[in-house]
Amino acid sequence: MIAILSPSTPDERIQEIVQFIEKHELQAHVSKGMERTVIGIIGQFSPSFGEQVRQLKGVENVVRISKSYKLASRDFHPDNTVIDWKGVKIGGDDLVIMGGPCAVETPEQIDEIARLVKAAGGQVLRGGAFKPRTGPYAFQGVGVEGLKMMKEAGDKHGLLTITEVMTPEYVDICAEYADIMQVGTRNMQNFDLLRKLGTIKNPVLLKRGFSATYDEFLNAAEYILAGGNPNVMLCERGIRTFETYTRNTLDLAAIPSLKTLSHLPVISDPSHGTGRRELVESMSKASVMAGADGLIVEMHTDPDNSMTGDGVQSLYPDQFAKLLHELEQIAPFAGKKFDTKKVPLNV
Ligand code: PEP
Ligand code: MN
Repeated sequence: MIAILSPSTPDERIQEIVQFIEKHELQAHVSKGMERTVIGIIGQFSPSFGEQVRQLKGVENVVRISKSYKLASRDFHPDNTVIDWKGVKIGGDDLVIMGGPCAVETPEQIDEIARLVKAAGGQVLRGGAFKPRTGPYAFQGVGVEGLKMMKEAGDKHGLLTITEVMTPEYVDICAEYADIMQVGTRNMQNFDLLRKLGTIKNPVLLKRGFSATYDEFLNAAEYILAGGNPNVMLCERGIRTFETYTRNTLDLAAIPSLKTLSHLPVISDPSHGTGRRELVESMSKASVMAGADGLIVEMHTDPDNSMTGDGVQSLYPDQFAKLLHELEQIAPFAGKKFDTKKVPLNV
């Protein structure tokens, strides 16, 4: 249920209403928007409790949210959530580009790729230190050493970092070295992991499970939000369909659908979404025009020799730089700003 307050309700009155709700052993989540303030009320309550809240001074209306997820829904939080982490704003006016290899391999590799991401105008360095591989004998990532290599490269080149965390036990160490925690498609419903991510403040990029509905996806986000971490972004990375030409089917309609259902930022992953380098440029542009707040794109200096099989979907550095120059041109048509700082293409 949400209680809608008149915009002029003073802070002290909002606090009194929150206390009233909490006295009934319910959770109250306040969301102050431009047009209205909303209090999300979570827990078990009777219809007469809703009536009591409606009668409180300052409350304009009380509305039941029938969806199973509450905090993730736009009903609860009408304005877009803008995550601000160390000055990089995700979900606002800026288009945010995350680029880098599938996996961190060596200090030299990640340093050079970080330099190229920064030179092209990207804001975030991606790279997996712990890799969720289909087979147990495949390269599993370089682990904690990789986190350290990434942090050094990110700090040196002035980029935020994003890396995948696969188990609750590794959340604290990943959060110590990296900025954004990535939950992979295979872990979207690893509820213990989601609960643990609710206890930290680092932004979480939650990838859609490859067979998850929007409802299941938003309920997974709800676990993190309900745990107390408001910094969640959703990532469409392709779903499994009958098509085999592409690795996955990037569900472009997920982008505006999720923006309608939820206030959380939406990021698109055209690399895993297609599995083919030559499709990344068009799917990146389509994602931006569909309303994505950012992209996470694989780029490698030597994709043919990359340590995961994802070289085939990784852009070469010059393709990555060219893509970002083109995104700079189209971003305004999608209501976004993106600035490559006019760095020439051949750096
Ligand atoms: C990745 O980003 O390298 C990755 C493994 O992604 P996904 O979980 O979407 O497969
Ligand atoms: Mn990958």
